Amino acid sequence: MPKTTLLPDILTAIQQTIEQHNIEITELDKAIGDGDHVINLQRGLDALSAISDELALLSWSQAFTKIGMTLMSTMGGASGSLFGTLFISMGKAAKDITMNADNFAMIFAQGVESVKLRGKADIGEKTMLDTLIPVANSLLDDVEQNVRLNTLLNNVNTQAIQGMESTRDLLATKGRASFLGDRVIGHVDAGARTSQLMICTVVGLLAGS
Ligand code: ADP
Ligand code: MG
Repeated sequence: MPKTTLLPDILTAIQQTIEQHNIEITELDKAIGDGDHVINLQRGLDALSAISDELALLSWSQAFTKIGMTLMSTMGGASGSLFGTLFISMGKAAKDITMNADNFAMIFAQGVESVKLRGKADIGEKTMLDTLIPVANSLLDDVEQNVRLNTLLNNVNTQAIQGMESTRDLLATKGRASFLGDRVIGHVDAGARTSQLMICTVVGLLAGS
């Protein structure tokens, strides 16, 4: 399992990916939200990149907690408190635990459970959870079956993309999009797309390293 010293590189790669998809994400959130999702996310990522050297010196538990608190206090929007919750909860779950694939699967699943509670949402409601839940389940299944790391990463990639794509045909029952009824059909959810892009970026880095 990588050390937190990898965090600055992960953050830089995520910032680049989000910047490359800036216009597309804005269009997605404009279509069925208010258009600010990418700005919110970039504000959070900028704040993280300002402390990335500090993050690299921390344990995983401390780093996840700091990432969560920073996102919570800088991002704004529904996604700020939800991504913040994800990492704060992962920080708690990672406390006093050795980081390996098995434990990471448990820690990530714990984080996603907290997002579900915080957003009072579940799979199939056209939110970031349509990406996060399939990824959490894929990780749990694969560590249980002891699959090789490359297979596990490939499966995460596939599940993130399928989950994001699944939001296109869903009605929204949570967030701003829930006021638009069937006008949301045909549009991918912005938070599902940014979650997928960030997850696939991390997978790309880990698979290549
Ligand atoms: P806001 O909706 O306040 O403008 P953002 O635009 O930053 O905030 O984030 C919108 C994204 O947040 C949506 O695309 C969706 O993925 C996610 N989201 C909104 N409400 C919820 C919820 N209750 N549970 C999970 N995710 C949600
Ligand atoms: Mg928005």
